[in-house]
This record gives sequence, C-alpha cells and structure tokens, in this order.
Amino acid sequence: MADIATAQTILSFEDARRVVEQHGSNVGTIESEAVELLAASGRVLAEQIVADRDLPPFPRSTRDGYAVRSADLSQLPATLDVIAEIKAGEKLERIPSVSSSGQTAAIMTGAPVPAGADAVVMVEYTSQRERSVEITRAVLPGENVVLAGAEAKAGGVLIPTGTRLSNAAIALAASVGKSRLQVYKRPRVAVLITGDEIVDIDAKPGPTQIRNSNSYSLAVQIAQAGGDPVLLPIAPDEPQALRRLMEQGLQSDLLLLTGGVSMGRYDLVEQVFTEMKAEFFFTGAKIQPGRPVVFGKCVPCAAASGAQKANYFFGLPGNPVSTMVTFELFARPMLEALAGMFPRKLMFVHAKLKSEIRVKPGLKRFLPAILSGEFEQSEVELVRWQGSGDVAATARANCYIVIAPDRDLISPGEFVPILPRPI
Ligand code: AMP
Ligand code: MG
Repeated sequence: MADIATAQTILSFEDARRVVEQHGSNVGTIESEAVELLAASGRVLAEQIVADRDLPPFPRSTRDGYAVRSADLSQLPATLDVIAEIKAGEKLERIPSVSSSGQTAAIMTGAPVPAGADAVVMVEYTSQRERSVEITRAVLPGENVVLAGAEAKAGGVLIPTGTRLSNAAIALAASVGKSRLQVYKRPRVAVLITGDEIVDIDAKPGPTQIRNSNSYSLAVQIAQAGGDPVLLPIAPDEPQALRRLMEQGLQSDLLLLTGGVSMGRYDLVEQVFTEMKAEFFFTGAKIQPGRPVVFGKCVPCAAASGAQKANYFFGLPGNPVSTMVTFELFARPMLEALAGMFPRKLMFVHAKLKSEIRVKPGLKRFLPAILSGEFEQSEVELVRWQGSGDVAATARANCYIVIAPDRDLISPGEFVPILPRPI
C-alpha cells in the first residue's frame, strides 16, 4: 500500500468556496444551441434579450375606469363629459384626445390612455349617466397609468447573457417576440461512486453491503443545477480499476467522485489522482458534514486522453448527507459556471430558531433542519439525526441551518441563517 503523498490543504468554508468561484470564472467558451422558447425553461441564455419596442408601447391604464385630467377633480363630486370608450387594443386613430377641461373617456384595463388625460379614476368611484359621469374621488397625476417605456426602453437589455431562464424570464422573452432562444449546452457531469461495500440498487445487498444512493441524489442535484448527469459503474477500492473509471469520468465536463477521500487505508481517490499528476486546490474544508471534500484538476490526464481541456473534479465524501451538502456548497457553483451562468453568491435566508443548538466550535456547519409554520410564525429546528450517514433524517428535513465556526450555543428565538434546499 503506497503512502498518500498528497500535501493536505484544508481551507475555511469561505476560502474553499472562493477558490471554486475563481476557477469557475475562467472556464472559457461554452457551446450554444437554439431551442424553442418553452424548451428554454431552466436553460442558460447564450444571448441577451433586448426590448424590440418600448414596454409598455403606449401609456397603459391599469384599471377599468375613466381617463381624466387630474386637475378637473379639484372639486368633488365632479361631473365630466364622456367623449369616448377605449377598450384594450383600440386603434390609435379611434382614440380622441381628452383635450379640454371637463372631458373624460371611459377606459378599460390595458387600454391606451388618451392624450390630454394624465390619470385614471377607478370605476368604483364613478357613476355614469348617459354621456356624463359623476366622480367622487380625486386622483394624483399619473395614478393608474404606466407611461410608455416605463418598464423598459426600446433597445434596452431585458435579460443578460448567462441568466438561467425562470418562468418570468420566459414570459419576458415571449413579450418581445422571441420564439427561439440561443442557450448554452448543458455540461456533462460524470458521477463515479467508489467503495467495495457499495452495490447497485437492483442487486440484493449482502449483510454488510450498502446500496448506492449517492448516484441518485447527485443525478437529481446535477439536473436541478442545469447539468446532464453521466452515471459511471461503481468503482471498487482498487487503484487500477479506479483509475480506469476516473479517466473515463474526466472525459465529461466535470467529474464528481464520492467516497474514498477520507484518511482510511482504502481511501484511494487522492492517491490515484496524485499518481495521475493531478493538481489539488484543496483537500478539505472546515465544515460539517463534508470535511474531507477535495477539489482539483488534471492537466496531464487530459493530455494523455486527448481531451480538449483539462477537466475539474471534486472528490465528495461518501457519507450520503456529506455528498449532498458538498455538492450544493462547492460542485454546484462550478457546474453553474460550466453551464454558462454568471456567478452568484450562495443565498441564505434567516428564520427564528425553535430549539437550542449546542455544538463544538471550529467548523462551519450545515445541519439538516425543518422550517415550518407560516408567515410571522415560521420557525426552524434541527432534525434529530445520527450523523452524516443518516439519509432518513435528511429526507425529513427541508433546509440546512448554518452555524458559524465560533458558535457553540444558539438559543431559541435567535434568527439563524438557513440554506434552503430545492424540493
Ligand atoms: P467513504 O467516504 O468512502 O469513507 O464512505 C463513508 C460512508 O459513506 C461509508 O459508510 C460508506 O458506506 C457510505 N457510502 C459511500 N458511498 C456511498 C454511496 N454511493 N451510497 C450510499 N452510501 C455510501
Ligand atoms: Mg469508501
């Protein structure tokens, strides 16, 4: 058994994350493809979406009511002459201007406000008789009107390149007539599970064997983050077989391994990468769960295999909760960079702690927790768990409470940062 020659580089969470972000900012060009608008949901824009005209294109009424000159309503009630009715989509030439004092036009939501009028009174404050209307409430200039170009000017950038397309972004693209969008190709992310004790889920496990769950949590996380998972066969804790599968995995845009990164005699991942002359950016982070997480790149591997570029890899600890957490914290930003997304910070929200937390200081912790209650009553508490192998507890959780390394006691009522978990 060769000694592990790797020098250990254990970083704080923040430093480790920064290292990943720096590498993510240098991924180079990414191929793109054109897709139909609906197929672009969740994809990353490879072009910018520009307003083809002012938004809104005309001053738009936001209410059903009467378009008025607001100064006409200084005395209430006011009686105005109704000179027209304007519905949404009315042709411009059919819209008279409300040019003289004492005039108004009935108007519907979404219709163009006529020239001369500067506000809309809601229909609730009016009563129309034949060709006149009595109005019982004054309006400020501009009330219930969105001016032409107030939302965006023609030619202005609505959605920048590198945006992951939400439903609102799809609606915005639709509103400027983009039926096809240029999006980046999804990065292929290889998943390589290691461990002699791990068996496929279709096999009947022996008494001391463990079914492979990490491939499945990772495949879901990769797809949610915008990548295409490529699941490799399970690698045994044996250097030659492991190396062959690692070389295969490095053909993808990113390689994620699980297991084999701790200090045990059969934790071979770092040893094999060292033999392959890989570069390690860190070999651990001061976090729990997930302390032995490894991040690196293998330039000679790429040269040897004829690959276009040197691909990055993460060695994620094999304990299932550690795998899930370290993916979110470190692999996800790299995947997002390879997907063409512009970088974003991890988003935390704060919630009121329900039950006391006591921990040993020294590590930044991301502990499975349940956020419950509604509105002002929402509270969060840790789930009871048996440590980072406890998938059952983690499946009951819906977020992670984040605990700073200098804390050992957090009292109920304190607002604590939480990392939400998608689905
Ligand atoms: P390791 O990081 O290889 O030391 O593994 C840590 C723990 O995680 C061990 O209890 C493994 O059996 C377990 N483990 C490793 N890989 C998987 C996997 N793919 N699915 C479920 N459990 C795993
Ligand atoms: Mg193992």
